[in-house]
Amino acid sequence: MSEQSHPEIREAVRKLCAGFPGEYWRALDRERTYPTAFVKTLTEAGFLSVLIPEEYGGSGLGLSAATAVLEEIHRSGCNGGACHAQMYTMGTVLKHGSKAQKEAYLPKIASGEIRLQAFGVTEPTAGTDTTRISTFARRVGDKYVVNGQKIWISRAEHSDLMVLLVRTTAREDAARPADGMSVLLVDMRTAVGAGLTIRPIRTMLNHATTELFFDNLEVPAENLVGEEGKGFRYILDGMNAERILIASECIGDGRFFIDRSSAYAKARSVFGRAIGENQGVQFPIARNYVQLSAAALAVDHAAALFDAGQPCGTEANMAKMLASEASWAAADTCIQTHGGFGFAEEYDIERKFRETRLYQVAPISTNLILSHVGTHVLGMPKSF
Ligand SMILES: Cc1cc2nc3c(=O)[nH]c(=O)nc-3n(C[C@H](O)[C@H](O)[C@H](O)COP(=O)(O)OP(=O)(O)OC[C@H]3O[C@@H](n4cnc5c(N)ncnc54)[C@H](O)[C@@H]3O)c2cc1C
Repeated sequence: MSEQSHPEIREAVRKLCAGFPGEYWRALDRERTYPTAFVKTLTEAGFLSVLIPEEYGGSGLGLSAATAVLEEIHRSGCNGGACHAQMYTMGTVLKHGSKAQKEAYLPKIASGEIRLQAFGVTEPTAGTDTTRISTFARRVGDKYVVNGQKIWISRAEHSDLMVLLVRTTAREDAARPADGMSVLLVDMRTAVGAGLTIRPIRTMLNHATTELFFDNLEVPAENLVGEEGKGFRYILDGMNAERILIASECIGDGRFFIDRSSAYAKARSVFGRAIGENQGVQFPIARNYVQLSAAALAVDHAAALFDAGQPCGTEANMAKMLASEASWAAADTCIQTHGGFGFAEEYDIERKFRETRLYQVAPISTNLILSHVGTHVLGMPKSF
């Protein structure tokens, strides 16, 4: 998005992030610990509740304002991955929840009293083919009894509630593969140890992601969001916001790398001249800027469509793909520009390099985006 949009928000986020410099993130990275102080500060400043309507205690801003927040966090060298889901996961409750659920949860999510930043969809055997999930919730009286397994569920240990996608009708008994799935709100504070086990997964970045095991976990039936059997559609609804916001994190990462590359190319002198005088060093950085600027326009466009209530599935996907590829290209150049120093922890480049790679895989991998464009937009035959 335009670097000039929402200037007050950007300025305020930059100031906040200045209190969380590279040393803070490096220490967390070494210990694989969660950025509690950073998330608390962002929450208290109201940046994670920008999308919650004012009547529920948020600031009622659009997605475009939220993209400015995440872009600046990432441009500053910080990482919004620890808490970005607090911004958008509540959308499932806001859009499809009952009046009672909205009143019970949204004001507390807005104030930060409740963290809703876990989103449980992916399963080890289903992979991207979500209709093949098998975690099952059986209705017994006024409860659902949940059994199954999820993988890559981020922030589960740092969330009070989780939006969980389950099957309530087996795939083979449903009219269509996408029918028979439902969304439950799981209260993590009571679930852990009472049917829910969380196992952290150590990855190449510090991301607090986990594996979940459900063994007869009881969830009150009143925690069903919307109608039983319609959950897949509710989850798809929320994915556009997620993709656009994550694309804005990529834009922020890309700007971080380009800022660092161009500054170093001007400052570093080898063979008696700035390395940036050599076009072999200068042009890749300029190319990164061109690519990232185009991706930023795509993110802007998708966010504007979202905020206008227009369909934006294709645009959200395309923006995420372009932004994640542009940030990765800028990351690669940044390492190359810094030579050996690109590998030194204290430059923060290798950390950001590892972090930005994720976005070509999660929340949706590039091939699946290309498949969407190839079949839904261009009408070519489906491969699956
Ligand atoms: C750090 C991290 C955090 C995550 N956080 C969450 C979370 O909080 N909640 C959650 O629910 N999930 C989460 N995920 C899961 C993430 O959304 C998935 O990993 C991602 O969507 C890819 O799915 P998969 O890993 O099952 O890959 P698979 O579906 O197994 O695919 C593997 C590869 O094959 C390709 N592929 C598969 N089928 C086709 C096809 N038909 N044509 C062409 N290519 C194909 C894919 O593009 C991919 O590159 C997270 C993942 C990671 C790594």
